[in-house]
Amino acid sequence: MTSSQNLKPQRGSAHPTTTIQTDVAIVGAGMVGGTLACALARNGIRTAIIDRLEPSVMVAPEFDGRASAIALSGRRLLEMVGIWRHLEKRSGPIREIRIADGQSLLFLHFDHADLGDEPLGFMIENRHLRAAIATEMHQHPGTLTTVAPASVTAMSSDADSATLSLDDGRKIRASLVISAEGRGSKLREWSGISVNGWTYAQTAIVATIAHERPHDGIAHEHFLPAGPFAILPLPDDGKTHRSSLVWTERADAATAYMALDDDAFLMEISDRVGGFLGALSLIGPRFSHPLGMQFASRYTAGRMALVGDAAHSIHPIAGQGLNLGLRDVAALTEIIVDGKQLGLDAAHPEGIARYERWRRSDNLLMATVTDVLNRLFSNDVGPIRLSRDIGLAAVNRIPPLKRLFMQHAMGTVGDLPRLMRGESLT
Ligand SMILES: Cc1cc2nc3c(=O)[nH]c(=O)nc-3n(C[C@H](O)[C@H](O)[C@H](O)COP(=O)(O)OP(=O)(O)OC[C@H]3O[C@@H](n4cnc5c(N)ncnc54)[C@H](O)[C@@H]3O)c2cc1C
Repeated sequence: MTSSQNLKPQRGSAHPTTTIQTDVAIVGAGMVGGTLACALARNGIRTAIIDRLEPSVMVAPEFDGRASAIALSGRRLLEMVGIWRHLEKRSGPIREIRIADGQSLLFLHFDHADLGDEPLGFMIENRHLRAAIATEMHQHPGTLTTVAPASVTAMSSDADSATLSLDDGRKIRASLVISAEGRGSKLREWSGISVNGWTYAQTAIVATIAHERPHDGIAHEHFLPAGPFAILPLPDDGKTHRSSLVWTERADAATAYMALDDDAFLMEISDRVGGFLGALSLIGPRFSHPLGMQFASRYTAGRMALVGDAAHSIHPIAGQGLNLGLRDVAALTEIIVDGKQLGLDAAHPEGIARYERWRRSDNLLMATVTDVLNRLFSNDVGPIRLSRDIGLAAVNRIPPLKRLFMQHAMGTVGDLPRLMRGESLT
């Protein structure tokens, strides 16, 4: 059995005695876990990645209809780990962001030209990002082992390693186990790590539209009383101009909107988009995502570390959840690779402690900012509306403040891991 194979389990203890020995085992092959696997394997770290879903299921168009705004620093990471080359024709630049408060004319306008030549970010449909990650994961025979579909049933650890037991009878022994399992992480629970969080009583409705006029790379976010309504520029598909919509609604209203037939649903969308894109039509199915915020009380426990939504799940109001996960990936890869060069174990205590300090404070700040923004903007209370409009207008008129906001959107501020600065680790 070569390690480049997708190791499919045969249920019913088909491999009762097989133990896969590796440096790092990642549980969860979503966008964060998959990127981490590519980053580690590319830097010579033996890695096994496990997912309960068949890889072909995760790249099917109906699995995930969202598109992600990837910051410039996230793009650099994806370039450094070999994923971006599979996405060149699939990504579209975000050149401007226009933010409006409801029907008010006051808006905040970010233009990439105020900072230089680089776009503020890039839009990529998740299905393409997932496919690019899957393609890149196949480029590391001998270093990266994919085990799917398989579920982890238990985790144990001793002084030298951690061991995962799988539902097909196999075991994976690794120096470090990483949970990239998303919000409902089992490894987090088994490690006794609690989470703080709440639901927002809001649901994000996601749909893709075709439109008559070009979007010119401009992202729009309208703050409506029930939540933000974002119109995000996708690359043309050769036939038509396209945008991805993220429409945040009260949970009960979202259920009713999701039940509308296509004509009525399109009418609701057209009302909210307005006329600037010309005639609209729907492409593909619509999706709904109940929203919540969740933050782990610790990011590490012994030989286990959390990345991505397993560590922090935030409101999509600023399109930052995946970007934070990519920062986790870049930081943890840097720590593991630097440690290996010094002959240290992937779970060396100083490295684990550094990861916790480095990522937890940064993620907590963004989780707090997104939570406050959502509370401030998702209402129609007169005095609050007035003060936020004054705030938007002030940011728009103070160039240094405006530049700082743009740098945050580009993900270029803070203690950036080297891969996010485009620097190699070896
Ligand atoms: C509407 C919406 C729009 C968004 N837009 C943006 C955006 O524009 N920009 C941005 O940066 N972020 C955005 N986000 C956030 C982003 O989508 C998430 O942060 C990101 O998808 C999290 O990825 P993940 O890999 O950590 O987790 P997940 O996507 O949840 O992946 C977890 C994986 O682990 C597997 N798994 C789970 N448990 C087990 C187990 N026990 N054993 C084996 N496998 C397991 C699952 O099958 C899955 O494949 C948005 C979110 C929403 C809801």
